[in-house]
Amino acid sequence: MIRTSLFVVFVEMFLCIAAYPQTAINPKAPFTSRDVDLWKQMQARRPETQRQSPNIATGEPFKVLGNLYSVGVPIGNSFLLTSPQGHMLLNTGYAESAEQMGRNIEALGFKLSDIKILLPTHWHNDGGGGTAYFKEKTGAAVMAGASDIAFLQAGGEGNQRIPAVKVDRAVFNGDVITLGPLSVTAYTIPGHTPGSTSFSFKVREENQDYTVFQYCCGQNIPQNFSANPNYSDAGMRHTFEVFRKVLPVDVYVWGPSSGFFLAARLAKFKAGDKLAFVDRSTFPAFAAWLEVEYETKVRNLAQ
Ligand SMILES: [Zn+2]
Repeated sequence: MIRTSLFVVFVEMFLCIAAYPQTAINPKAPFTSRDVDLWKQMQARRPETQRQSPNIATGEPFKVLGNLYSVGVPIGNSFLLTSPQGHMLLNTGYAESAEQMGRNIEALGFKLSDIKILLPTHWHNDGGGGTAYFKEKTGAAVMAGASDIAFLQAGGEGNQRIPAVKVDRAVFNGDVITLGPLSVTAYTIPGHTPGSTSFSFKVREENQDYTVFQYCCGQNIPQNFSANPNYSDAGMRHTFEVFRKVLPVDVYVWGPSSGFFLAARLAKFKAGDKLAFVDRSTFPAFAAWLEVEYETKVRNLAQ
């Protein structure tokens, strides 16, 4: 009798497991399921919000806040951080759009010759393609993630076309890059490329400091990431460590995400709201979602 009921219990347990093969992976603190849900909602609205943003197509430059300006084409993913002692260009954009970006910088009232440091986020065409152009125009020092230097110096053809450029300084994880009053902390986050580099810095607006985080790059972890040499478990764990370290992020800038609600934010800015780009919810939403994505793929690969 006992044996029979034990057997029934086992059968029921098996059926239960079969019906619910996997429980959902929850985000780890301080990220929450709400963050993940928010990112999913934002993703769903992305095509609509990008359609409403003419700047995405034209690359029209604009002030973000304080001494930070969006100068990039086509999706506002290159930024100029300015100071009286010179400027830094974060992400150098496409080779094909470098001239337009130069005109954008001048249209904002800045001189190209005042750019002293070029920080390509990674060696691809959208992150480092304009580096050679701006180095030639400005004489600025090129600083790049150590593991991407060989690629930048070799240049590339095809859809990752970048003109070869000499790198003046290797950037390592946690390096602080300074220029006059400017101070930018670099985090090398392997994955998108071996040396893709993110930046964290403060800008001041209306007597208050705001933390800006420019993430590089991408959100598509390959399904079988173990077959992609740019990805490693250690690299991904490091990514999430960096995400926690840079919190709280007041202004999150990244290529496609700069397009989120850009039209609405610009309209608010033009109506006089100097803090229109302050947004403390988008970065945690993205970070939480990416970590859950990664843990889900780990679980799938480990089985
Ligand atoms: Zn890229």
